[in-house]
Amino acid sequence: MGKLLNKIAKGKIVASDGAWGTQLQEKGLKAGECPEIWNIERRKDVLDIARSYVEAGADMVETNSFGGNQFTLANFGLEDRVYEINRAAAEISREACGDTKIVLGSMGPTGKILMMGDITPEEMYDAFKQQAIALEEGGADALIIETMTDLEEARIATKAARENTGLDIVSSMTFDNTPAGGIRTVMGISPADMVDVLKEAGASILGSNCGNGTKEMIPVLKEIRKADPDIAVLIQGNAGMPQYNNGKIEYNESPDITAGFVKELVLEGANIIGGCCGTTPEHIRRIVKELHSIRK
Ligand SMILES: [Zn+2]
Repeated sequence: MGKLLNKIAKGKIVASDGAWGTQLQEKGLKAGECPEIWNIERRKDVLDIARSYVEAGADMVETNSFGGNQFTLANFGLEDRVYEINRAAAEISREACGDTKIVLGSMGPTGKILMMGDITPEEMYDAFKQQAIALEEGGADALIIETMTDLEEARIATKAARENTGLDIVSSMTFDNTPAGGIRTVMGISPADMVDVLKEAGASILGSNCGNGTKEMIPVLKEIRKADPDIAVLIQGNAGMPQYNNGKIEYNESPDITAGFVKELVLEGANIIGGCCGTTPEHIRRIVKELHSIRK
């Protein structure tokens, strides 16, 4: 059991961090630019973001490595720099977190579709293995495989992280509401579908991130809990439904609105609560405040 599971086992509801992409854009990251190369070229800006979440009261801060696998980095000609980029990502968040807070190494999808034969399962496994090792060596305490929509990719990433590191593994998928009223990823996977597969692959914590706002996370959480009453669950919703405005994506769930769902998430059994796209340090500050008031 790592540092993260240990906190959860003691009954603590862990406050995670908010968006990275949104914060990087505020610091000048342009569309089409690689966010992860900032770990090398604009280290101080990345450190500022990690620190802003520590200052907001988060117990756990992610790393700037969502697109740090070799296939995503290849879009920028950076596929040979996986180790350097991911190690730096973990080192930066470690520096912001000190010894007390938890560093959660972020691993997003490859962008390759197994079903289409883009790459083989072995190539995918190796890519996640390489990334997971670099994040661990940079000082991550736990890893999150996040924003997954394909269950097979999530399974391979989880297995690669489990078999090649000694860290707690969070496996998190992104769900939408279907017109028929169900909850599925864009690849047709339900919250209940992921539970046994990802536990078997080595996930110690399951989760749901991104999506259409914090409120929409409640039915997802209920479905996970129904399938498994015991496993620890992470919830990191977007700041509302994404809205397209002049070619820009905007999110309009205020920190107060997000905070208003915290109590219900805790009652329904969430163990880790944070935010995804569009959430800011202010959202996290309000979540932390809400968690404190629940504890009293
Ligand atoms: Zn998101």
